[in-house]
Amino acid sequence: MTRPDVAVVGSGPNGLAAAITMARAGLTVHVHEQADTIGGGLRGEALFDPAIRHDLCAAVHPMAAASPFFREFDLVSRGVALTAPAISYAHPLDGGAAALAHRDLDLTCDGLGPDGPRWRRLMEPLIRRGSGVTDLLLSDLRSLPPDLIAPTLLGPRVLGHFTRVNGLRTEPARALLTGVGAHAVGRLPSLPAGTVALLLGHLAHTTGWPVPRGGSARIAEALTDDLRAHGGTVFTGHRVTDLAELDARVVLLDTTPHGLLALAGDRLPRRRRRALERFRYGPGAAKADFLVGEPIPWTHPDVGRAGTVHLGGTRGEILATENAAALGRAAPEPFVLVVDPAVTDPDRAVAGRRPVWAYAHVPNGDVRDPVALITHRIERYAPGFADTVIAARGMSAAAYEAYNPNYPGGDIGAGAVTLAQSLFRPVPAWHPYRTPLPGVYLCSASTPPGPGVHGMCGHLAARAALRREFGITSTPGLAPAAGRHGG
Ligand SMILES: Cc1cc2nc3c(=O)[nH]c(=O)nc-3n(C[C@H](O)[C@H](O)[C@H](O)COP(=O)(O)OP(=O)(O)OC[C@H]3O[C@@H](n4cnc5c(N)ncnc54)[C@H](O)[C@@H]3O)c2cc1C
Repeated sequence: MTRPDVAVVGSGPNGLAAAITMARAGLTVHVHEQADTIGGGLRGEALFDPAIRHDLCAAVHPMAAASPFFREFDLVSRGVALTAPAISYAHPLDGGAAALAHRDLDLTCDGLGPDGPRWRRLMEPLIRRGSGVTDLLLSDLRSLPPDLIAPTLLGPRVLGHFTRVNGLRTEPARALLTGVGAHAVGRLPSLPAGTVALLLGHLAHTTGWPVPRGGSARIAEALTDDLRAHGGTVFTGHRVTDLAELDARVVLLDTTPHGLLALAGDRLPRRRRRALERFRYGPGAAKADFLVGEPIPWTHPDVGRAGTVHLGGTRGEILATENAAALGRAAPEPFVLVVDPAVTDPDRAVAGRRPVWAYAHVPNGDVRDPVALITHRIERYAPGFADTVIAARGMSAAAYEAYNPNYPGGDIGAGAVTLAQSLFRPVPAWHPYRTPLPGVYLCSASTPPGPGVHGMCGHLAARAALRREFGITSTPGLAPAAGRHGG
């Protein structure tokens, strides 16, 4: 085998984004993936029925629709239809009530009654400067923001979320926004959760919260097709256990800091080893995949039109259950996210059979099979759901780590989203992707800007490596027809 310029370990969205960026700069790239299929958090499988595919990890893609990497890569023109539902997310409450985040801001505000004008004041300025806000929050958090107004809009809103739920007064609106912040998976309220609430919250009213037609694996396939078209090679089915296995000038690791420690061992200076050992992981996710006979029988009919449903109850309940999970205590009714992908992509269902994707926030390393827990949670807002279930499979938080080493103890964020670890991810350093080892970079969600399918950790790490290791300062073009060293 000829020696490549670049070896990438891991084929998650960040590993593939890094590989594409390097390959499009004209370098030879090898990607090494331990699993038999590519994609990391984008993988899917027909779990129960050959006609029905289930997303094993990520299902909904507000960030893949909006991130700078994917905006230029342009999934849509590569045949990946990102279909956004008219209701981005719903938050059912007891007694048949529900708060709804329509893609249409006016409809959302109308539905929130007295809090409608407050929701508008919160979101409308962010929506107007949408790309500035998104580009800032999906950056390395060290460069000058391209839009200098965006931080002035975000700063007070993030603080306002932390201190007083942005002035929202009614329970449905408070629960609606707190539920989006819970995507940060950790202590609430917190500044990182407030930031996540505003990033995902404003995207709900712009590009929306789409699902890729056919499932998330379509995104991984489009990325891999582009990599191969630019000369890259992907090897699957082998876990890299030592950096010495990789004969390449530059190595990009789509792994956690603990993954780097395992691969590099004593070659890392002691001080850096200690810093990486201090990196903390957050609560776990425990997932249930269901095959059901009919749409979920939500008490509130409009909840069934939403792409994503948050089951957390009132703001007070969400704070209690999220903080319990963060402290390692199992809550009897944890925060649960539910997606019925066929609501947005009808081709995901056939007559009498459709997939339901759901996961609960639980303590890190929790070994409980979540099927009963999640079924019970859905039943609270959709009585009769259990009767529609044809088959189910649970994956505990502990099992997630065996499935993908980037989810230690089930932490799907590849590192707790605390204030310190949002700013200094993976260690306090001005160059977050570099390691002290020559030519070795981290490019996973354990680096800025953190978790989610946006490709930016990989893209930014690759750009850092291009500059430092190869002297390539121009950013390779990513658009379908773009050539080498493009714009
Ligand atoms: C249940 C669940 C639901 C989620 N829902 C969403 C969602 O709806 N929307 C969203 O945006 N995000 C979601 N996420 C988060 C998202 O999947 C991750 O943030 C994203 O995949 C991170 O990308 P990555 O490339 O950094 O790592 P990953 O996607 O985790 O990929 C890392 C890859 O590296 C491989 N690897 C690691 N170590 C080695 C090694 N030593 N040798 C070889 N291969 C190795 C792994 O097998 C894996 O394929 C979800 C995650 C989970 C688990």
